[in-house]
Amino acid sequence: MSTDPFVVVGADAAGLSAASKFRRAAPDREVVVFEKGQWISYAFCGMPYFVEGRVDQLSDLLSLSPDEATKRGIDLRRGHEVVGVDPEAKSVRVEADGEAFDQPYSDLLVATGGRAVTGSFDVRGLDGAFTLHDMDAAAAVDAYIADPDDYTFARVDDTPVDRERVGYNADLSAPETAAIVGGGYVGVEMAEALVGRGLDVHLFQRSEHVLRPFGEAVGERVEAELADKGVAVHTNTPVEALVGEDRIEAVAFDGSELAVDLAVVGVGIEPNTELLADTGVELGPGGAIRVDDYGRTNLPDVYAAGDCATARHTVTGEETWLPLGLTANRGGRAIGSTVAGEPTPVGEIAETAVVKAFDQECGRVGIVDEAAATEAGFDPESVTITAGSRSGYYPGAAETDVTLLADRETERLLGGSIVGPDRAAVRIDTLSTALDAGMTVGEVERLDLAYAPPFSPVWDPILVAAKVLNGQLD
Ligand SMILES: Cc1cc2nc3c(=O)[nH]c(=O)nc-3n(C[C@H](O)[C@H](O)[C@H](O)COP(=O)(O)OP(=O)(O)OC[C@H]3O[C@@H](n4cnc5c(N)ncnc54)[C@H](O)[C@@H]3O)c2cc1C
Repeated sequence: MSTDPFVVVGADAAGLSAASKFRRAAPDREVVVFEKGQWISYAFCGMPYFVEGRVDQLSDLLSLSPDEATKRGIDLRRGHEVVGVDPEAKSVRVEADGEAFDQPYSDLLVATGGRAVTGSFDVRGLDGAFTLHDMDAAAAVDAYIADPDDYTFARVDDTPVDRERVGYNADLSAPETAAIVGGGYVGVEMAEALVGRGLDVHLFQRSEHVLRPFGEAVGERVEAELADKGVAVHTNTPVEALVGEDRIEAVAFDGSELAVDLAVVGVGIEPNTELLADTGVELGPGGAIRVDDYGRTNLPDVYAAGDCATARHTVTGEETWLPLGLTANRGGRAIGSTVAGEPTPVGEIAETAVVKAFDQECGRVGIVDEAAATEAGFDPESVTITAGSRSGYYPGAAETDVTLLADRETERLLGGSIVGPDRAAVRIDTLSTALDAGMTVGEVERLDLAYAPPFSPVWDPILVAAKVLNGQLD
């Protein structure tokens, strides 16, 4: 057996899940994790809530400290960027502190994540323009919003934050009006965060509805909620440019300009795959690294997981790319087991996603709109219903909209969405489970879901939707 270590590139969700699992499963073998930055094991997902102030300390978003990682037996090297892979020699090229060296590996996991897409927007060149795809950016936005006279480093003090960047932003006068470019989940979460910080917020979405992957029913309700909470929602309105000399002054769209002094661009991410350029690695949808059901690339003993890797779709069975947190953690953990000698599939993804928009909770899973289902080769039938979240007489009962899609021929459930203010989002997990089991709509209708007045009506909204859709199919 090779004595070379299992080498992991990237020390967040996928990378550290793999390293931790590997160490537990193979305590006698060595694992080296290279991380180019100083942050490890952080929760991007909590950044909007840090900016809002709902999460007080940036360090609350860190789950494993470097010391804890070392105690687990992981050889963690921060400030080490892997710049190349030689699959023939089975080694990686690493740069750190101005030096470079080669590190041999027995197995290699590429868990390099993704980066924010900025398109033609000059985010780096303008003060007050941000993307939100790293912890330093979250700290910088928070500092930028704060009144320069009030800002202290108290919320970020016990972290490896880029103090120079934070201090620079803290010194700039506090903004009053914000533009959010992109109505995806990051845009919607940031709209809530910025309203919470007292800003006048405009949200721009190029297509007809915000939260496009969640479908029309969710988009419409969220737009109403955003407007109700004071956000100016501009749908069908692509922003053409960020305008300003040194600092953001306006956003340009539709032949006009809106004066703003903060812009957050959230128009998507792309996978970090440069490391494998020139290795002959195969790429899949979204330019992500193509992997099989065990996370293996086409290069011998090279794996990939998380935001940089493809996955298999539960409903279509096709290769897809959907960068989300559980996919990264689960994929990394499975690869850790596989490399330790216990082959473990990384699991399929049903595109399950949830998001909060002020008082509305939204969920989606599988295929949510008919056009996408037709494109995937199905003959879709769909329904959208509104039902109560609890027994009507019990306080807190609220209208919940459920959309379900099924295939006419097989009557198999294809996907669905849900939106409502009362624990709507978690209900999507029932549908995710049903998709994983390949259930028909009739089988969903007959599920024995829990009932008691404070939690659900006798007929849970999911059951109501399945009942109606089943009737349509009949
Ligand atoms: C604002 C925001 C909110 C989100 N909210 C949610 C949510 O609510 N639910 C959800 O499921 N997902 C959410 N996500 C997505 C989720 O955070 C990601 O799917 C997850 O972080 C992916 O983990 P990863 O390990 O694949 O990659 P990353 O977290 O990106 O980690 C990759 C690591 O690799 C390092 N690296 C890259 N290249 C190299 C190199 N060459 N050498 C050494 N190190 C390198 C990077 O510095 C980084 O630390 C959110 C993301 C953002 C930005």
